Amino acid sequence: MNKKKSSILIAGGGSTYTPSLVMMLIEDRERFPVRKIKFYDNDEQRQAVIAKACAIILAERAPEIEFDYSTDPKEAFTDVDIVMAQLRVGKYAMREQDEKIPFKHNVVGQETCGPGGLAYGLRSIGPVLELVDYMEKYSPDAWLLNYSNPAAVVAEATRRFRPNSKIINICDMPVCLEDIMARVIGLRDRKDFETSYFGLNHFGWWTSIKDHDGNDLLPKISTHVKKYGYTEQTQQGQHKETSWLETMLAAKELHEIEPTFLSNTYLKYYLMADETVAHADKQYTRANEIIDGREKIVFEECQRIINNQTAKDTLFVSNEHASFITDLACALTFNTKERMILIVENNGAISNFNHDAMVELPCIVGKDGYEVLSIGEIPTFQKGLMEQQIASEKLAVDAWGQKSYQKLWQAFIMNKTIPSAKVAKEILDEMLEVNAPYWPELH
Ligand code: NAD
Repeated sequence: MNKKKSSILIAGGGSTYTPSLVMMLIEDRERFPVRKIKFYDNDEQRQAVIAKACAIILAERAPEIEFDYSTDPKEAFTDVDIVMAQLRVGKYAMREQDEKIPFKHNVVGQETCGPGGLAYGLRSIGPVLELVDYMEKYSPDAWLLNYSNPAAVVAEATRRFRPNSKIINICDMPVCLEDIMARVIGLRDRKDFETSYFGLNHFGWWTSIKDHDGNDLLPKISTHVKKYGYTEQTQQGQHKETSWLETMLAAKELHEIEPTFLSNTYLKYYLMADETVAHADKQYTRANEIIDGREKIVFEECQRIINNQTAKDTLFVSNEHASFITDLACALTFNTKERMILIVENNGAISNFNHDAMVELPCIVGKDGYEVLSIGEIPTFQKGLMEQQIASEKLAVDAWGQKSYQKLWQAFIMNKTIPSAKVAKEILDEMLEVNAPYWPELH
């Protein structure tokens, strides 16, 4: 029997992650055959550079795959099976603001955590809902797999405002960390084991890691993390910047706080906020690292390919980010029943946590979507932290929906990274000014 061939739309075609994703779709096309790849972006020039290079890569390596790109929603979203979304609303210039404004007030400045994450959330909600609407209008049977951050806030918004849509919100951080864990104990990658995990996005814990014979590997990984955190194993993956290495080292301190489980290293921003602020270079943040690093490298490489009219020697390779979303597309298309960590409505899976919270949990994925695995009760420490964080995220979505300054201020106050209502207001008022083109008008 002929295998189904999918038509893929990458929304945010100008993303720095797009070339790796295209490399993955080419590499994996026997398992997940593709008939068409299209890009969609609202920045024509930025997308064109990535698209012209990808057209050359595809012509050389997979000429049977049709390729096109557009800034027109109808053209882009028509005849699509899977939308892979990776928007950055406001691009790196706004990420820089998300990081630098909080730092001025001695508060964590980060892409998805703390006030920066909430500000980014208010920028992302509208454009992601817009993608859902385009997909439903032009390709109503398609699935939208969303990487656009901040995934927690975006997921709460899609749960609330598009409850029946075929959208799955995802994050590559659990799989990136699982690949690092695999390397720590000398395994090839995460596919050598099966994990149990619970939490919110960028806010969770692994409770078990078992090999395919059922042997528990968590104690061995835990012994390593207790001593070293994650060190050199980090840089073999996609997170190479200096600040990432610091984040991965924090696993050691996080292990002292919770030795039973393995913590998502993003918890550092909440549980070690003072140290994070003290050690941060507040003038040169991760946004600057990426502008001068990944973004520059990706666009220079695309330009080199375009100038040479060949990609035979390209440095673009697939990565964890690309492999996870491709696995998900494959599971939905071919009913593989793969176990994957997704951001989903709790609905009792964590029995002592809000039913209507968007949590990050293992799921079984098949052609009708996902089934969430039941976790049961979680301990008081994690539950308390998660309740505070989910309240902050929900208040941010309330603020967007109701155009409410008060709700957004409360979202900031509720966030564990912010010490007081006064500091919350100062940060919010500065953020309000620079976010005016993107946020709804708050009153
Ligand atoms: P990027 O700035 O390189 O690319 C984002 C693209 O989105 C840009 O080309 C931009 O023009 C486009 N865009 C912005 N607003 C748009 C809109 N309204 N409509 C159409 N296109 C729009 O960013 P990047 O670093 O490649 O990251 C892309 C996204 O993926 C970010 O949200 C990032 O946080 C997210 N990401 C998520 C994960 C995860 O695991 N959840 C991991 C990595 C990256």
